Amino acid sequence: TYVVGPGCIGSMDRSCIEVCPVDCIYETAHMVVIAPDECIDCGACAPECPVDAIFEQDGMPPEHAEFVAINRAWGGGA
Ligand code: SF4
Repeated sequence: TYVVGPGCIGSMDRSCIEVCPVDCIYETAHMVVIAPDECIDCGACAPECPVDAIFEQDGMPPEHAEFVAINRAWGGGA
């Protein structure tokens, strides 16, 4: 799955939402998040992000690892 990192906070560009073929990117108050159980790993969103906030889960920088749980918590799922 893909994960939105902290770069989105303060940006909320939303370009990713427009390109996601399964509409699994959701807006929260301060950033968008990807519902991990709905993401089909197409990769369309990451290059659209003007602040490069989106990573494959395995490629998320370690210092931002908590965003895996944040996307899951806010994007739905256990
Ligand atoms: Fe949507 Fe594809 Fe990005 Fe997953 S990788 S959030 S399916 S655009």
